[in-house]
Amino acid sequence: MILNSMRGRLVIWLAFLLVGILLGFGVTVFGLQRQNRMAQIDNDLQHRLAAFSADARERIPPPTIIPLREPPEAHDPDFVTKLDQSTNAIDLSTNSTDLTTNSVDLATNATVLNVLPPPPPNPRTRRIVLTAPTARLFNEADTNDFYFSFWSRDGDVLRRSTNAPATVSLPKRPGQSTLIHFRTHDFLREAFNYTDVGECALVGHSLVGETTALQDFAWRLVFIGVAVLIVGLGGVWMLVHRAIQPVEKISTTSRRIADGHLSERIKGREDHSELGQLIGVLNGTFARLEAAFTQQKHFTADASHELRTPIAVLISEAQTTLARERSSDEYRETIEACLDTAQQMRHLTDSLLELARFDAGQEKMPYTRFNLAEKVQAAIELVRPLANEKKLEFLVHLRDMQFTGSASRISQVIVNLLNNAIRYNVEEGKIGVTIHPPEEDAIELTISDTGCGIDPEELPRVFERFYRADKARSGETGGFGLGLAISKAIVEAHNGEIMVSSKPGIGSLFLVRLPIRAGTWAVGRDPVEP
Ligand code: ADP
Repeated sequence: MILNSMRGRLVIWLAFLLVGILLGFGVTVFGLQRQNRMAQIDNDLQHRLAAFSADARERIPPPTIIPLREPPEAHDPDFVTKLDQSTNAIDLSTNSTDLTTNSVDLATNATVLNVLPPPPPNPRTRRIVLTAPTARLFNEADTNDFYFSFWSRDGDVLRRSTNAPATVSLPKRPGQSTLIHFRTHDFLREAFNYTDVGECALVGHSLVGETTALQDFAWRLVFIGVAVLIVGLGGVWMLVHRAIQPVEKISTTSRRIADGHLSERIKGREDHSELGQLIGVLNGTFARLEAAFTQQKHFTADASHELRTPIAVLISEAQTTLARERSSDEYRETIEACLDTAQQMRHLTDSLLELARFDAGQEKMPYTRFNLAEKVQAAIELVRPLANEKKLEFLVHLRDMQFTGSASRISQVIVNLLNNAIRYNVEEGKIGVTIHPPEEDAIELTISDTGCGIDPEELPRVFERFYRADKARSGETGGFGLGLAISKAIVEAHNGEIMVSSKPGIGSLFLVRLPIRAGTWAVGRDPVEP
């Protein structure tokens, strides 16, 4: 259930993400801490090993100084002892023997001293003596502290600190290396190195304390992690709730609109945020839907109304005629009236069908190349008898223009506009017809008149279906209010536009803009590429 909701899925994903981040962070911090601590221990071990090895390395004991009366040849000639005759001082820089306690008075006796080489120590049994500073580095009373061990080249333990664990054994020599090496075993970290002669010095440290400290640190991390996770999950829940709220609003409102409340809109800021933009787009779509729906409703009502009137006329004519016996002339009159009405009905249904086909995009308009000026001229000739009845004058400025489109449909638009210009014109008025040269990739055809004009508030609606600006006058003239709607549909099917400007009492001007595309060009000129 929770997985089906966007909120639940988002929370689960974000929770997983948070847990992942916390785990990654915790493991990294723990690893770094461990690494850092081990590096410190290794450093420490290295430092202690250096001091311990320096002390434990096989050293030559201090020489024994024997006052001599005999010449020094009897002694080892390799052992260097320098007697500075001028100062009577003995240079014994290679060892630290204190000569001040020597009973021989060098200043007064100028005695030749002979220093005997010490007997070489037994490498298996020699004593390892630590200097005081080195001994302080190893607290043997504390088993968890640092310990040391020293092996002879034969692998015998020469010295081992009392706190060294029993598990400490002679490490395997890595080749002939005398470098410092490290090993870890049984919670012990050890550093060791072999000397040139094959003796091995090792210092070590128990990791039990470190492990406990690291465990404490890990627990602290877990505790902090859980606390952060709880707070984070709360935050995630709040964030998701806030993020999803507008989506819920959108779905609730959409459902209500689908249920028929077409005027409802999604409440929320239509700002530049993603959701704000979505709300804006949806509200715009709902507004257009409502307008289309209302228009459709009006259209159906208007269409039924327009059809009911001629049907009523037909019925009443027929009933009146049939009420009693009529002469053949009277029957003829009635039949003619019925025919007129039926033709009106056919005109209306044809227009409705035409519009329906345009709406469905099913209207087939075979495109041909034709001279627009010729079509305009032909349309003028078609309506001239009607214009003559009102003594209207045509002012025509045409320019030969080739146009590719549906010749019959474009002619239909021109005839519609000319019919209106005649219908709504005043007696002895004027009708202007002009084709402008191509401009901005479009040709413009204007049809103007000196008629009654259209009120500014009616102007935007004249292209609506069944809209008649002045119902009383339009009724007289007999239009259904579909002519301009059909003209608009035809022009738009040619990717053009139709506009109107009008001044009540002065006249109206209809402008048809048809875009130039391949095949539309002025006669005698090269084609204008789109
Ligand atoms: P109709 O068949 O009623 O003329 P149209 O769609 O051609 O329908 O026109 C719609 C309405 O626009 C008309 O009823 C009329 O009120 C107004 N109209 C159209 N052309 C003109 C014009 N040239 N001058 C004044 N009003 C016009």
